[in-house]
Amino acid sequence: MTFESLGLSPALLEVLSTIKYSEPYPVQSEVIPAVMNRKDILGIAPTGSGKTAGYVLPLLMNLQEKKLSRNRHVQVLVLVPTRELAIQVNDVFKLFGAAVPGKIKILAVYGGVAVNPQMMALQGVNILIATPGRLLELEASNAVKLSGIETLVLDEADKMLNLGFQEEMNRIFELLPKKRQNLLFSATLSDDVNNINRVLLHDPVVVKIENEKDNIDLIEQTAYLVPDERKGPLLRYLIKQHSMKQVLVFASSVYSSEKVAEKLRNSGVDATAMHSKLSQKARTDAMERFRSGKLRVMVATDLISRGIDIKFLPYVINYELPRSPKDYIHRIGRTGRAESPGEAISFVSPVDEHHFRVIQKKMGKWVTLIDSKNIEFRGF
Ligand code: AMP
Repeated sequence: MTFESLGLSPALLEVLSTIKYSEPYPVQSEVIPAVMNRKDILGIAPTGSGKTAGYVLPLLMNLQEKKLSRNRHVQVLVLVPTRELAIQVNDVFKLFGAAVPGKIKILAVYGGVAVNPQMMALQGVNILIATPGRLLELEASNAVKLSGIETLVLDEADKMLNLGFQEEMNRIFELLPKKRQNLLFSATLSDDVNNINRVLLHDPVVVKIENEKDNIDLIEQTAYLVPDERKGPLLRYLIKQHSMKQVLVFASSVYSSEKVAEKLRNSGVDATAMHSKLSQKARTDAMERFRSGKLRVMVATDLISRGIDIKFLPYVINYELPRSPKDYIHRIGRTGRAESPGEAISFVSPVDEHHFRVIQKKMGKWVTLIDSKNIEFRGF
């Protein structure tokens, strides 16, 4: 399969060749023609599968054939759960959109930054990427109109459709026109996704790509039994002894992520915390530094366990285990992607042993538990 055979324009093919996408990923081969045929999509595909370009390319093709609105009536709405994902999707739209004639205007809006510049920038936007709360705020002040939406994309739909977003999503659905194309992408097929599939999608093309669970085989998993008070030294020992170049560490709270990052810095390891209490600028800067390989360790809460794609991330460490097995799979899925193997290391304190067994059972894979008593890491 080639991108040419999918019917993309020469301008888009040129961008694809510049960025060295030599052939479509499986999700793209299926999704691109279906979206161009104006079909609804139910895509079960994890981050790393290439789903973003899978919907971005055909949506740009479709818009080229349409009259572009120049008022506040947005034509394509992409809803995402986090600001970081909004920025990431916006970058992909901008990359390809620049090559498309007709000046398609693309904008991402999300909370945590001033609303006024977004209100002004919304004039003439054709493709809007948004987090639900900020979108509703902008709609309430008439900065954006949703009644002309032709295509709705729900990225990370399993997250968008769970309880935390339910009220906001219901309000948004009421503002959308009944007749529209719906593209729903989710890493997992949960009951929530299944329910919404039934009410939202019309005769969808179902595309199922290996899920994070299958991807797990690419990831080498190790766990250490370690009491809470020895987790810090063990972390520093592993990072230094294994000369880990880039590590994503997951902590269970804002406080803990700050503490862990601070201790790493005190021991000479470049580390930054990443959580919801930081300013948007700090979040964006940290992501950029981490993505470009300038930052060695990012200590994050589950804020970035979803959707965020970091190329060639070799290590994920669960400093604290997540509560849900699903989140465990999402977290470790940040490594071991795009055919590059990765390693996931989990710290299991004695009280977590049972919980870790539950996680392994759900994942369908057993992980060797090494007792940290047998490792000499005093002084780290
Ligand atoms: P996504 O699942 O959309 O987050 O994309 C995963 C990663 O794959 C991103 O870093 C893309 O740049 C990359 N990618 C997407 N499609 C292709 C392709 N056809 N060839 C090479 N890389 C791709």
